[in-house]
Amino acid sequence: MTKDIATPIRTQEIMAKHGLTVKKSLGQNFLIDPNILRKIVGQAKLTKQSAAIEVGPGIGALTEHLAREAGKVLAFEIDQRLLPVLEDTLSPYDNISIIHSDILKADVEAAIKKELAGYEDIMVVANLPYYVTTPIILKLLLENLPIRGLVVMLQKEVAERITAKPGTKAYGSLSIAIQYYTEAEMALTVPKSVFLPQPNVDSAVIRMIKRPQPLVEVIDEDFFFTVTRSSFAQRRKTILNNLQVGMPEGKAKKDLILKALEEAEIDPARRGETLSIEEFGLLANKLHAYFR
Ligand code: SAM
Repeated sequence: MTKDIATPIRTQEIMAKHGLTVKKSLGQNFLIDPNILRKIVGQAKLTKQSAAIEVGPGIGALTEHLAREAGKVLAFEIDQRLLPVLEDTLSPYDNISIIHSDILKADVEAAIKKELAGYEDIMVVANLPYYVTTPIILKLLLENLPIRGLVVMLQKEVAERITAKPGTKAYGSLSIAIQYYTEAEMALTVPKSVFLPQPNVDSAVIRMIKRPQPLVEVIDEDFFFTVTRSSFAQRRKTILNNLQVGMPEGKAKKDLILKALEEAEIDPARRGETLSIEEFGLLANKLHAYFR
């Protein structure tokens, strides 16, 4: 096995050799601890029959661990300067394809068809750029890609919001949007010392495994998400007050909201953060009858 990229010395050597400086604006915090990489990759439960998709390979620290465990790795990197670096650092591996692209603009489905044909088990594994973690996760979930799930490093605070349960401070519309599609769990908390440079915020790794069906059956997904977002618009307000602002204008609006709440057996004085995702699903379906 070749020497790990993810050590402080090797990372500094690679950066010096290629005259590379980090771009903070692209969220470049490279991992320099092979133990944390082994733990991240372990969370994805890969075999040689699996493929991995990585967002932002950087100088290849995580990529090479994925290449050792998976049959194939497909990585998307936005920073052109890193392409020759990756060519160099990943030269011992013949099962990696790098695509130079902003993941948010990439046609990931087409890339999977082209690069990962024949792989039935595909996991996204990434140390995400922190300035765009939520849009990346939502894109990969909403595009209905043939993936089993995601194991990603991100800001601890966002990790807590994504995995939060009802009745907690971190629970909100982001928890619901992600848990509607996946079983999301906190996997690891990670010290700042494993990065170069160290980020300003604490980090964590979460595991999101896609559900065969969304958690609740809703008549209209967009409307369901409108209801959940409105219900948390002002966290200290009751669900009734928030919905009065969030639902479209119309005659007898308050009465209709009260009626839907009663039909869903939800006390209008409750706050959004106390409602389970199942309750939100039921409520959205009842409100749909009056407001759509
Ligand atoms: N995987 C490497 C590691 O763990 O050491 C680097 C992770 S670093 C936190 C994030 C990486 O994502 C950087 O290489 C950065 O250039 C890249 N990146 C930032 N925005 C991106 C985007 N929109 N699409 C693809 N890659 C992006």
